[in-house]
Amino acid sequence: MYFIDYIRRKKVMKKIGVLTSGGDSPGMNACIRAVVRTAAYYNIQTIGFIRGYEGLIDNNYIELNRSSVSGIIQRGGTILKTARSDRFKTIEGLQKAAQTILQHQLDGLVIIGGDGSFKGAIELSKYTDVKIVGCPGTIDNDLIGTDFTIGYDTAINTVVDAVDKLRDTAESHDRIFVVEVMGRDAGLIALRSAIASGAEAILVPEIKNDLDVLIQKVQAWRKDKSSKIIIVAEGDESGGAYKVAEIIKQHQPQHDVRVTILGHIQRGGNPTCMERVNASIMGYHAVKALLDNKHLVMIGIVDKKPTYTPFEKATKHIQELHPDLLQMLEILSC
Ligand code: ATP
Repeated sequence: MYFIDYIRRKKVMKKIGVLTSGGDSPGMNACIRAVVRTAAYYNIQTIGFIRGYEGLIDNNYIELNRSSVSGIIQRGGTILKTARSDRFKTIEGLQKAAQTILQHQLDGLVIIGGDGSFKGAIELSKYTDVKIVGCPGTIDNDLIGTDFTIGYDTAINTVVDAVDKLRDTAESHDRIFVVEVMGRDAGLIALRSAIASGAEAILVPEIKNDLDVLIQKVQAWRKDKSSKIIIVAEGDESGGAYKVAEIIKQHQPQHDVRVTILGHIQRGGNPTCMERVNASIMGYHAVKALLDNKHLVMIGIVDKKPTYTPFEKATKHIQELHPDLLQMLEILSC
């Protein structure tokens, strides 16, 4: 009986929309591909809105089919482009978006974005009865309801790759490199990339007065250490990599200290294997969730299983830095 019900429900879903919203992140294309191909498998037509909610407001869209998502799984960015839309925060914008959904007679909508995009989807649901589900597309890995967000694994691998390259030049010249990585509120990226790249120290927002400790550490470093890499999360209280370099120079003028701010390169590049797999799982389950009549939920992966978290609960949270990992970094970097 349940099976017949399931098939019947599948049949009523004829057409869905998909869009990417907020900041771009590597893996969004893999997710779009999974949505389109899963929908096609169930004979559901898909259209993609261009530049996130802006495309929904302006009815700017492209038809998507199995062929149009060929050769995109390995590409960073998003073929649908993305945007932050102030118009979508107005009643007029939301009404126009709802009008577009009605015009296309959409049965479902998949939003790939961060918690802001999900808040927008909640507002949109007040003007349309289309079923909406989301996939977490953000490099910050800071959403409740998933162990991974789309983009995080690639971003962190980009940091490690960059630090590996900086170490070559740091070693050749006996330099200290202060590398600033993303993390306005959290040091998760700094900590993990420091462990993976063998960095000598980190400065993170979660630890207070860590700059004083760093200065002592620099003084105590082994004389035979030829390269010294310090990774600073952009939100650390020290004020950023340039400030840290300046203070080290004040205390240790004999050192040649250089700064690298990784900035937007952390957003780009081909998604890693793990990213492509996770993004595909999420896109696949997004369509299955629509077929199951799920509404206003984010598809996540927790303990390797797909999960569904209501949009209002899929908010930002800062993962605690594991004290054991901090201690391990301390021991391994000596
Ligand atoms: P990232 O993590 O990359 O920043 P995000 O989805 O959190 O991604 P936001 O800029 O916060 O990025 O949100 C994306 C868009 O969602 C906004 O530009 C806006 O169009 C829409 N949005 C966010 N909050 C609301 C809201 N309260 N009402 C209507 N729309 C909203």
